[in-house]
Amino acid sequence: MSTIIEQDRAVRIHYHLTDADQQVIDSSEGREPLSYLHGHGTLVPGVEAALAGLKAGDEVDAVVAPEDGYGVRDPELDIRVPIDVFEESVRDKLGAGATFEGPHPTHDGQSARFSIIEVADGQVMATANHPLAGVTLHFKLQVVDVREATAEELAHGHIHGPGGHHH
Ligand code: ZN
Repeated sequence: MSTIIEQDRAVRIHYHLTDADQQVIDSSEGREPLSYLHGHGTLVPGVEAALAGLKAGDEVDAVVAPEDGYGVRDPELDIRVPIDVFEESVRDKLGAGATFEGPHPTHDGQSARFSIIEVADGQVMATANHPLAGVTLHFKLQVVDVREATAEELAHGHIHGPGGHHH
């Protein structure tokens, strides 16, 4: 009997991820399969739920809502700051896609990583939302293999060997 995907199984999958308009966001095509330890929050919840109970060779299409994916967009994490708050030496490096560390907009005393959306009129518009927050994810998933995780892997919370951690 084939091993099925459930808590504490070491799983390898191929995946193909698009948005609702079939634009490819990420894919393991042409790469090593993705290895993960099931049930440890490694993959977004909607993907782990779609894979649960499957076995090697199975394929599934999963549509994952933002709530079960990378979360909904939080407008409070979108900020606009004057470019003057940045040191002069870094100002010409600020552009769409550049990132910086700053105070978290809603968690006092914590910092957040911001990604710049636009720099215009002396203002920097940036967001600490995950790039895939608010996106409904369309996955094609293919199970490559499933095995019991070793005690060491369970203790570490990740998979060792090909496609996993090397240390
Ligand atoms: Zn380890």
